[in-house]
Amino acid sequence: MQKRLVSISVPIGLTSVAVGLSVALLVAWTLVMVTQLNIGGRTWLLVVGIVSLAVIIMVLVLSAVLLVREVLEGRRQTGFIDSVTHELKSPLASLKLCLETLDRPALSDEQRRALREMMHDDVDRLSVFIDDVLNASQLASSRQRLEKVTLSVEHAIYRAVQQVCARRRTPRERISVVATNDLTLCTDPTALEIILTNLLDNAIKYSAEGAPVCVVAEQTPQGITRIEVRDQGIGIATHHLKEIFKRFFRVDREEVHARHGTGLGLFVAAGMARRLGGTLKAASPGPGRGSVMRIELPARLRPQPASSAAQVPTKE
Ligand code: ADP
Repeated sequence: MQKRLVSISVPIGLTSVAVGLSVALLVAWTLVMVTQLNIGGRTWLLVVGIVSLAVIIMVLVLSAVLLVREVLEGRRQTGFIDSVTHELKSPLASLKLCLETLDRPALSDEQRRALREMMHDDVDRLSVFIDDVLNASQLASSRQRLEKVTLSVEHAIYRAVQQVCARRRTPRERISVVATNDLTLCTDPTALEIILTNLLDNAIKYSAEGAPVCVVAEQTPQGITRIEVRDQGIGIATHHLKEIFKRFFRVDREEVHARHGTGLGLFVAAGMARRLGGTLKAASPGPGRGSVMRIELPARLRPQPASSAAQVPTKE
């Protein structure tokens, strides 16, 4: 269940009003002093007063901004811990129940097969979750080393499609791939695989059952490799198109909370894309109208420092 959090717009509003009033007072008092009082040779005193007050106002505004950032980060961390607890507990509880049920002698072969399939799904869910957490932490601590391999983009896409279809138990025909077989890329294959599987997994997860997903790969006239993962799913509101790349961020919508997730997948994918010297961006005509995730990578790997890769998507 979603926790209702106290809105921070009230303290933000009050701080803005207080800052506005202070600036208005500063201006008014200065005018009164200059026009009504005879300050003579003590103008420097007025200047010192104005500068000091301006500095105090700036410090207050800066403190308020930092405080709001901390509160938002704290909220994201709390959301993450809730998701982590849920992501670990529910597959484990389900595995335990399946194992207990499997012990019953009266089960038919069909029932045993269904139980094993459920256990398989739970183990997959746990391993995807652990991979996301590990990738996010590696990204933040520059432990991950990059390889340079020339690979076929079409081949890399097909491998990711195969993995995601097996994991999500969805027919391979659901995902169409449009790519020329001569399109190659010199990059890190593991990082590319992490990006593609994350995007494909989301495209399937945030679409209705059986809805088609399409992957289009092409080379731009500038020699950039562009791969788009297009779905016809729940879509994304314009004001969330950048936020979804932040660590732990999940859109606060019923359709999103109804699906498992931690808000780490896109943070990892965008960080990886930056490490490879490229970008990952999202586009959507709006909620309920599908989404497009666009990766752009240079033809030859241009590694970026892990720190910048990990930090950029977390910016407020
Ligand atoms: P999660 O584990 O929640 O899926 P991600 O980092 O992969 O985390 O995605 C962050 C959020 O972005 C999701 O919670 C969801 O709200 C939104 N999102 C990601 N991909 C899609 C998509 N293809 N369609 C609609 N919303 C998406």
